[in-house]
Amino acid sequence: MPVSGLPPYDPANIFARILRGEIPAKKVAETEHALAFHDIAPQAPVHVLVVPKRAYVSLADFAATASDAEIAGFWRLVASVAKELTLELSGYRVLTNMGVHGHQEVPHFHVHLFGGRPLGRMVPSGEG
Ligand code: AMP
Repeated sequence: MPVSGLPPYDPANIFARILRGEIPAKKVAETEHALAFHDIAPQAPVHVLVVPKRAYVSLADFAATASDAEIAGFWRLVASVAKELTLELSGYRVLTNMGVHGHQEVPHFHVHLFGGRPLGRMVPSGEG
């Protein structure tokens, strides 16, 4: 069982295909360790995804197995994209979905960067 409790990494997942250049993405920024691109179905005026370049299923997997340089490089890219997109003054939200309760759809670790309007409460009230 992999560390995240999710199935093993599937190299056919959509973000792996974007990273290999097999399908297009609207790229925002790229470093040695990570890639940022616009979400295909934006939920805010700014909705960017940031993914590490190497294969990690989830945050749990990334935190447990990525090198310190990858982890630092990843988070620095998240913050620098937010700055480049002029979100620092107004504010923004960074979110990751992990596993079943987190409603993670793509099994390659990523964070969502949202901004450009007031984002409301962090988690909608719901059942359970
Ligand atoms: P999550 O539920 O955190 O796994 O979110 C996956 C996100 O990937 C969703 O917001 C989708 O809209 C987004 N997505 C799926 N396919 C693509 C794609 N080809 N390019 C950009 N974003 C995508």
